[in-house]
Amino acid sequence: MIRVEKVSKEFALEAGNFTALRETDVTIGKGEFIAVMGPSGSGKSTLLQILGGLDLPTSGSVEIDGVRLERLDEKGRTLFRRTKVGFVFQNYQLLPMMTVAENIALALAANRAPKAEIDRTVARLIREVNLEGKASSYPSQLSGGQQQRVAIARALAMKPALILADEPTGNLDRQNGEDILKLLSRLNKEEGITVVMVTHDRHAAETADRIITLRDGAVVEDAMEGAGRK
Ligand code: ADP
Ligand code: MG
Repeated sequence: MIRVEKVSKEFALEAGNFTALRETDVTIGKGEFIAVMGPSGSGKSTLLQILGGLDLPTSGSVEIDGVRLERLDEKGRTLFRRTKVGFVFQNYQLLPMMTVAENIALALAANRAPKAEIDRTVARLIREVNLEGKASSYPSQLSGGQQQRVAIARALAMKPALILADEPTGNLDRQNGEDILKLLSRLNKEEGITVVMVTHDRHAAETADRIITLRDGAVVEDAMEGAGRK
């Protein structure tokens, strides 16, 4: 599903180049639930951005679901992002002036789906993330946990094969974080969606089947978890 080969990422800074990923290799199978751990600044978010086509590697190759990302042009990458991956971020990144239903419908509307189909899909997703009755609410009227569930529903709208989540429980208290982990786990186990989740929380990481640890832009550990949290 995901093959990262010798991927390096350098950022040009005034003081010179900074290497965020150094010749990193990662292979992830379809249907895996992966946690990416490592200290702050070790390259976790950079790796996720590259997997999602939000950024390009300086060198190396990234293949997702048969698509070589570094060979796509800007338009191809936009289409890839919109149709193949769902992103979930620590700070939710919902649009504040739009309702829950409108936030979830964004990608479908951008792809010009018919209105009846959009309404049906949005209603299904709202049920799926347990937010019945909140369709017309605005993000500011919701708790953090509820906002993150809207973000997950939005990520699911295009039926992605892959969910990329960067510290999805980072802003949540224990109980709300637990609910988000259970939701991601269910989507992985029941719908077969591959999940790659960055977290610095060991407890959260144990939800995953496998934990990849980065340090200074390189994989230093790659370990299968036990039964995970089912
Ligand atoms: P993590 O998510 O593991 O905390 P990041 O992937 O965000 O780490 O960052 C890795 C390193 O790359 C950090 O030292 C960070 O400062 C640097 N970095 C990330 N993005 C940029 C950027 N756009 N420009 C310059 N440096 C960056
Ligand atoms: Mg990060």
